[in-house]
Amino acid sequence: MNGLVISNLVKHYPEFTLQLDCSVKEGSLTTLLGPSGCGKSTALSLITGIEAQNSGRIHLAGRDITDDPPWERNIGLVFQDYALFPNMNVGQNIAYGLKIRKVPKREIARKISMLMELMGLEGYEKRKPHELSGGEKQRAALARALAPEPDLLLLDEPLSALDAKLRIRLRGEIQRIQRELEVTTVYVTHDQEEALEISDEVIVMNRGHIEQTGTPQEIYTNPKTLFCGTFIGSSTRIPKDESTMFFRPEDVVLDPSSEQEMQLFHQAVLHRKHYRGFYYEYLFSWDQVTIHAYGDGSHPLGTSCTLGVPQKRCIILRS
Ligand code: ADP
Repeated sequence: MNGLVISNLVKHYPEFTLQLDCSVKEGSLTTLLGPSGCGKSTALSLITGIEAQNSGRIHLAGRDITDDPPWERNIGLVFQDYALFPNMNVGQNIAYGLKIRKVPKREIARKISMLMELMGLEGYEKRKPHELSGGEKQRAALARALAPEPDLLLLDEPLSALDAKLRIRLRGEIQRIQRELEVTTVYVTHDQEEALEISDEVIVMNRGHIEQTGTPQEIYTNPKTLFCGTFIGSSTRIPKDESTMFFRPEDVVLDPSSEQEMQLFHQAVLHRKHYRGFYYEYLFSWDQVTIHAYGDGSHPLGTSCTLGVPQKRCIILRS
């Protein structure tokens, strides 16, 4: 396999251990998703070679890079804070990695113009980083990382510093550019919405280990652990003896007409509703549990309903 293959990688800190065993398909966009402190940055430091692992191997594009220094790994990096060289203009920033590799001048000029067009940065070549908006800086940083044609593009929370609207626009652009260049990409984020939208595959991390790997759809509709289910999206969890019944709000039917093959919750009382624009999120109380459902807002607070969830949408997870 020619993408990124991480085999039994282990890193011990005094109070934290990271264990990683996963792969990123060539040309795919894979997200490392998890809460703050789960080990995402540690994983990145090992992949880039900034930190040394205690054991395990890393292969990239068919090469064993485990013992290579960072500058020989051919990895392009984009950080949250851009890290553009402030004294160089955009063109010089993009050219930097190519000059080091002694790429001929004419080829550098061709690359710069191709990348500026791809990023929608035409006409910005002579601008210094302080003359760019946050979104433009991030596109320039992406162009700089892509210029040397890396075997792996690593994006470390690249949109965290931007406002919500721009974040949504830029993540669409990152996805478009990634698809167009087919560069193997690892995207690190704690934002589940971002991960669901842009990823081919998601690797969900928790406390230094991988909880689940799968497509966004697999992880959302079929979480393997309680952590995955609750970290991503809204859900209802009903504790049973040794396990937890889990389902999504969109699977809850209010006063179902046919009760066949449904898990039923009688006399659930609507105690809160949140306006979400074109729908309402309903919170029902049932036997000391809060059940999340969606509705049109027409039910007054205090309404008592029977709630039904198709049996096949009820997932049993180990607690
Ligand atoms: P994330 O990026 O997901 O927020 P990190 O990889 O930064 O998580 O941190 C994971 C854990 O590793 C944290 O508990 C952190 O305290 C610990 N850690 C990170 N770097 C070091 C270090 N250099 N020395 C000791 N502990 C560290």
